[in-house]
Amino acid sequence: MTDVNRINLAELLERERTRFRAEHPNSMALSRRSHHLFGGVPMTWMTEWSGGFPIALDSATGNRITDVDGLNYIDFALGDTGAMAGHSPGATVRAVTNRMATLGGITTMLPTEDAEWVAEELTRRFGLPYWSFSLTATDANRWGIRLARLATGRSKILVFSYCYHGSVDETFIIVDPNGLPVSRPGNIAPAQDPRETTRVVEWNDLAALERELAHNDVAAILMEPALTNIGIVLPEPGFHESVRALATKYGALLMIDETHTISAGPGGMTSRDGLKPDIFVIGKSLGGGIPSGAYGLSEEVAAEIRRVTGEDGLGDVGGVGGTLAGNALSMAAMRATLGEVLTETAFAGMIEMADKYTAEVERIIVDADVAWSITQLGARAEYRFARPEPRNGGESAAAADDELDEYMHLYTLNRGILMTPFHNMALMCPDTSESDIDRHSEVFADAVTELLG
Ligand code: PMP
Repeated sequence: MTDVNRINLAELLERERTRFRAEHPNSMALSRRSHHLFGGVPMTWMTEWSGGFPIALDSATGNRITDVDGLNYIDFALGDTGAMAGHSPGATVRAVTNRMATLGGITTMLPTEDAEWVAEELTRRFGLPYWSFSLTATDANRWGIRLARLATGRSKILVFSYCYHGSVDETFIIVDPNGLPVSRPGNIAPAQDPRETTRVVEWNDLAALERELAHNDVAAILMEPALTNIGIVLPEPGFHESVRALATKYGALLMIDETHTISAGPGGMTSRDGLKPDIFVIGKSLGGGIPSGAYGLSEEVAAEIRRVTGEDGLGDVGGVGGTLAGNALSMAAMRATLGEVLTETAFAGMIEMADKYTAEVERIIVDADVAWSITQLGARAEYRFARPEPRNGGESAAAADDELDEYMHLYTLNRGILMTPFHNMALMCPDTSESDIDRHSEVFADAVTELLG
């Protein structure tokens, strides 16, 4: 295997940083002249885009973005899945415009006809019979966890090391190198020690899962059906069947978050692989970019909640979901996006593009004889700096290389390709074309050649 020469990498990275600053004066000025944005950006994590400041958006359509310096990008980040339907998809724009401008009424706290249509469509895709809405997947997860506690009378949740489910306090816990649970480094000011709320095991480790569930205090196993936020880590054959069986055996609910893994197909991995969640969470892509999220309940969980509360509507003083959730605009956006944009035909095309992307990146990696790998999950794929591909979150985290990440991100960005920040994920949308993939392959190959050269 060819090793990366770190001195060469440092020089190349400096060259790419210099080019990035020189070609983005307007984006740089925007971030520098902001006096009232904390950190110079609307969200402090935006400072973590490679290059020291993010490119600022001018406009976007389909899978193309134009920044305030007039530069164009093929967008493989797609808002880390929020724009999986492409930017401003026509059907969604027409539906939200109609709701806002023609019908009127964005937030009224009243139901609309669209809500039942969307709930029925979610049942068709994912199988669960009852749905509620939120504006983010984070919030859907928070409410799913509460309902799991309510339905089981248990306090703890169980997650997999290096999972990500939004800024849900309970989930920021990892298995340390000694096999012990610890608060995840980098999580700012946790509300409490996550060991009090959460059990954690490594992905694909069924023995550890059974050991932790045997405490009989877990309300729900919260999981993505494949890890996607620490590189993509797929389940080993039989993993899901065993997780389901262990959850049932130890009285824990199975809560599946398909916010990212919906890339596997129109019904996510749940439909593709016949998974049987008790609680289901999804967000991001549903509304074509308009804030939207949803959580679904199985017949049994719904019945248990009714039994405990004695009613359908939860008389919750906190107001499950919040006043803006299920608003008319979000519902109109979800109906149009699910009904007309993220269709079965669209998924078939997106997955075909991801097949091509993955095959070409794999070919370049093998030709270069470098110890990297790429993993595909339907319409998304992610390469990383380890081969063979890691089989759990801990191994995947250990393969992280910030310098290489920044080099690959800036190299591609400087040549018109936007990759997902914080990892090397590429997502396809209905507008992604073969020539976009060809362009990526060309730039990726050049980046690797220069690096190893
Ligand atoms: N669940 C998963 C699996 C995610 O990847 C994310 C965000 N990356 C979230 C939940 C949180 O989504 P949102 O930003 O809509 O709160």
